[in-house]
Amino acid sequence: MATFLSGGHSLFFREQAPPKGQTKYGFKSLKIVIVGAGIAGLTTALAFRNTGHDVTVLERYAGPQNIGGPIVITANAARVLFDLGLDEIWEEKSEKDVQKVNHRRYATGEVLASLDTKKADDAYGFPTLRFARFRLLCILEEVAKERGVKILYDHNVISVSYSVIPWVSCSNSFFIKDVDLIVGADGISSVIRQTIAMENPIKTASHRTTYNINIPRSMVADDPELVEFIKSTNFWLGPQRVLIALNMSDLDDKLNLSFGTHDEEGVEGEWFQQGDLELVRQKFADFDPRVLKLLDIAEAVEAECYICRLSDVSPLKEWSKEKVVMVGDACHAMLPLLAMGASQSIEDAKCLAMCIDKAYLKKRPLTEGLQIFEILRKPRTAFLVGRGREEAEKWYMGDGTEQRARDQRIKDTSFFFPPQNWDGKHIDNPPEGEGHLLGSVYDQGFNVIDHVSGSKSVC
Ligand SMILES: Cc1cc2nc3c(=O)[nH]c(=O)nc-3n(C[C@H](O)[C@H](O)[C@H](O)COP(=O)(O)OP(=O)(O)OC[C@H]3O[C@@H](n4cnc5c(N)ncnc54)[C@H](O)[C@@H]3O)c2cc1C
Repeated sequence: MATFLSGGHSLFFREQAPPKGQTKYGFKSLKIVIVGAGIAGLTTALAFRNTGHDVTVLERYAGPQNIGGPIVITANAARVLFDLGLDEIWEEKSEKDVQKVNHRRYATGEVLASLDTKKADDAYGFPTLRFARFRLLCILEEVAKERGVKILYDHNVISVSYSVIPWVSCSNSFFIKDVDLIVGADGISSVIRQTIAMENPIKTASHRTTYNINIPRSMVADDPELVEFIKSTNFWLGPQRVLIALNMSDLDDKLNLSFGTHDEEGVEGEWFQQGDLELVRQKFADFDPRVLKLLDIAEAVEAECYICRLSDVSPLKEWSKEKVVMVGDACHAMLPLLAMGASQSIEDAKCLAMCIDKAYLKKRPLTEGLQIFEILRKPRTAFLVGRGREEAEKWYMGDGTEQRARDQRIKDTSFFFPPQNWDGKHIDNPPEGEGHLLGSVYDQGFNVIDHVSGSKSVC
C-alpha cells in the first residue's frame, strides 16, 4: 500500500459531500440530471456530488444488471477513483489474486510475455483494479446514494431539451424541468447523442463478436493443468480469434472467458443475447487443449453464454449542445482491447466536474466549461478509439510473417508496461509514431486532474 502513498495523494481521505443546496465553494448547487447509471453516469454523479451539486441519475433498468464480464480500471482511472474518495473499494473489493498478465500463442499456450502486475502498479504509481462490472456498479451506486445522489431506476429517458430551460422526459411520464446541466451517460446507443449530434455514421459495428462465459474458479483450481489461470490474466492470440480469461473472484468466484471471433454475429451494445456454447467449441477447436478443458467446465455447469458484437463510436464533431453534454461510451465507445473504455469514462467524469466548477466559480457561462471539457477530452479519446482499432488488427492477425514479427515484439517489450527507461513523466498529448511503448505510458500514466488544473484554457 505504501507505494501508492507517494506523489502527494491523500488516499485515505473520504470526501464528505457538502449539505444539500450548497457547494463547497459556498455557491448555490447546480441542478444536474445524468442519463444512465453505468460507470460513466455514476462516477460523474459522484464527481459533481462531492463538490455539493444536486444530482439525479435516471436509469432505464430496474437496478444494476448482473450481466457482462469484468471491467479493468487502469492506473490512470484508479487515480481518479482514489481522488473521489473510493480508495477503500480497492482495499476491500477488487480482484487481488491476479499476479501476472500473460500473452500466449493460441494453439500451444506458449507464453510470449508475462507482465508482473505489481511491477506495473508500482511503475504507474496507482494499481490496476479488476472488478466484475456488476460489482463495481453496486459499489458506485452504494457510495453515490450514501453521499446524497438520487438514483431513479426504471426511468427510461426518451427526450431532452437543450432550450433556454432544459428539461428531461421519461417513458413513464416522469418529467424534470429547470435543469442546469444534462449529462448523457447512456452508452453506445445513446439517446442524448441523437439530440446533440445529428451526424452519421456514429456507431461503427466492427467485424468482431464476443462470446462471454463465466465458470467457477473452484473447478479451475481443482485441475493442476488449469490452476495457474486463477492467479493470472491470460490472452490467447490466434488467427481471427482471441480468448481473454479474466478472474472475477468478486462475483461468485468466477473466471470470465471472453471468446472473440471475426464474425458479424450479435448486436452492438446488447449484452443479453444468448450465444451457443457448442458453436464456441467448434470455432476454438484448434486452441490450446487447456482452453477446451475450460469449455468442458462450462458445459458441465451449463454456463450461460452471451454474445455481443463489438463496436465503437467514430470521433464526433460535437459532444455538447447548450447545456446538454455526453460522457463515456455515448461519445467515444472504443473496442475493448486496450481495457480503456470504462477508464476513459471515469476520466471524463472528473474532467467535466472540474471544468464546470471552474466556469461556475468564475461566473462564466457553463457552456464555456463544456467547451473546455470537449477541448481537453476529444484528442485523447479519439486517439484511443484509433488505437483500439489498431490493436484489434494486431490481436486478430492471421498466422504468417507479420504475426511472427508481432509475437517477437510482444516478447521483447511487454504490452501495458512502461519502457525500462521511462522517466516517470506523463505524456499529455497523443504520442506520434512511437509504437505501443509510449502508447501505454500515455494510456495509463495520464493524470487527468493535473491535465485539467494545468490547462491554460480552463476558463
Ligand atoms: C449490461 C451491460 C453489460 C456490459 N458488459 C460488458 C462486458 O462484459 N465487457 C465490457 O468490456 N464492457 C461491457 N459493457 C460496456 C462497458 O460497461 C462500457 O464500455 C464502459 O463501462 C463505459 O460505460 P458507460 O457508462 O459509458 O456506458 P454503459 O456501461 O453502456 O452504461 C450506460 C447506461 O445508460 C443506461 N441507459 C441507456 N439508455 C438509457 C435511457 N434512454 N434512459 C436511461 N438510461 C439509459 C444503460 O441502461 C446503462 O446502464 C457492458 C455494458 C452494459 C450496459
